Amino acid sequence: MSLNIIQLNKVEEERKLNFLEEIIENDLKTGKVDSILTRFPPEPNGYLHLGHAKSLCINFGLAQKYGGKTNLRYDDTNPTKEDTEYVDSIKEDIKWLGFQWDKELYASDYFDQLYEWAEQLIERGLAYVDDQTQEEISKGRGTVETPGKESPWRGRSVEENLKLFREMRDGKYADGEKVLRAKIDMAHPNMFFRDPILYRIKHAHHHRTGDKWCIYPMYDFTHGQCDSIEHITHSICTLEFDVHRPLYDWFIETLGIYPSHQYEFARLNLTYTLMSKRKLLELVQKGLVAGWDDPRMPTLCGVRRRGYTPEGLKLFCDKIGVSKRDQLMDIQLLEWCVRQDLNARSNRYMVVQDPLKLTIINYPEGQVEWFDCTLNPAEPEGATRKVPFSRELYIERADFMEDAPKKFFRLKPDGEVRLKYTYIIKCEEVVKDADGNITELRCTYDPSTRPGAGEWRSVKGTIHWVSTAHARELEIRNYDRLFTLADMSQVPEDKDYKDFLNPDSLVLARGWAEPALLDDASGIAVQFERTGYYIKDADSTPDNPVFNRTATLKDSYKPE
Ligand code: ATP
Ligand code: MG
Repeated sequence: MSLNIIQLNKVEEERKLNFLEEIIENDLKTGKVDSILTRFPPEPNGYLHLGHAKSLCINFGLAQKYGGKTNLRYDDTNPTKEDTEYVDSIKEDIKWLGFQWDKELYASDYFDQLYEWAEQLIERGLAYVDDQTQEEISKGRGTVETPGKESPWRGRSVEENLKLFREMRDGKYADGEKVLRAKIDMAHPNMFFRDPILYRIKHAHHHRTGDKWCIYPMYDFTHGQCDSIEHITHSICTLEFDVHRPLYDWFIETLGIYPSHQYEFARLNLTYTLMSKRKLLELVQKGLVAGWDDPRMPTLCGVRRRGYTPEGLKLFCDKIGVSKRDQLMDIQLLEWCVRQDLNARSNRYMVVQDPLKLTIINYPEGQVEWFDCTLNPAEPEGATRKVPFSRELYIERADFMEDAPKKFFRLKPDGEVRLKYTYIIKCEEVVKDADGNITELRCTYDPSTRPGAGEWRSVKGTIHWVSTAHARELEIRNYDRLFTLADMSQVPEDKDYKDFLNPDSLVLARGWAEPALLDDASGIAVQFERTGYYIKDADSTPDNPVFNRTATLKDSYKPE
């Protein structure tokens, strides 16, 4: 019996290998590779987002699991969109996730080598300079059903092509005047083989190579060769690149260089979330969010400011796994993972956001008791915080109800409730203003119900509170999802994605906190008891501490 269970577990474990792990284990077993080397290849044209986190977890995760390494290689072949601001933020985000790259490299490091290979292809009659415009080239490519048309410049001699290509390099031509194309097959069933463009002219300053180059290699002529130069064993990218793979292999075979191989997985899509860098940039530029690190953004700097933890994100990436089919993941799973992590680790504090004054009429005026309260229930023997109790308190307005239904276990007229960590109180009188609004509750407390004082007496409800005189006022930024449409790939044609911005994605509030909150040194989000997880924001000043809502406390969601 027990043997069966062990065997079952083993089968389970073997079945659980994802397809990339299967490939790698096989490659190691058959000796195709001795050790694995992966790479993470961001284009430095924006900030990393949750989709990149998945790619990072896969690339670094596989290397870690199989004792290999991962290079960080910037795919910086598009000088007009790239910037060192992005280069720096990408490194910061990867480190924050807890990954360490082996080498920091740039596609631009290989521009000389790529140029040399281009000349080699020209000399072998496998590339030519084309004078057609971008439109003519696109049109000439044909369609999936119909073959393309050969360029009138396709028959140029090797000498002429070499001369023209060198003139392109030397800056003799304007942007778009000429391109270098591979000479493969204009009727090829794979459109990418219909004389793909290898180089284009771009008189632009590059963030690393400066003004050295005015021609830049295209993605397809760059990526595989860079992988090959670095001896990347498994070049892992998202599914949309599978149609590029034959061309990736063609360049490597034609040039006779190290055979890196490309593998594709499904990119991460999340409900209520957009991850296209172009659109995220538009949100930032139009001021629709407060910047790349706005806590509503799906960027890693955004979710970090929101209070998401690397552990929560990694748990999420682990749970969603690696698949070969496009998937729209439920953002509630991500939120659940973040909550799982924070629930286990975060410190607890009491904060009232919609205060109602509560006076304990039989509690001596001027008296203060400091209660030792558990800071973090995950460590019952661990640290405590001191919480002051006095005659005048705030409770949440929603924790009192005048005409309460039977099932309402919080405070009601003549009802009893425990003030968390302290006494049971009873509501004796409801004070109202001239308009009938409740302005104060007058209560009595039962001194014998002090925890540890005598026999424990239970009441159904427990509510949080703060001592008015000791409360510290906060600015609270209650964040919610940025968009209202679950599947943001389904924006109707007559609408724009910006039409689905959630007007309530940020609701400002004030809060009154127990004083210990402001001395919290945990560095991660804390739990406002009974409310949610919150993290102190960098906008805080001594006079105006600011807290961002990371997640609400409860959610009916349960992962399968
Ligand atoms: P975007 O389309 O958002 O601009 P990108 O693919 O152009 O993203 P890159 O900087 O080129 O961004 O991406 C670096 C790596 O991260 C690539 O290997 C890419 O495939 C991967 N990646 C990007 N977006 C996702 C995603 N949503 N899910 C998984 N991996 C992703
Ligand atoms: Mg890209």
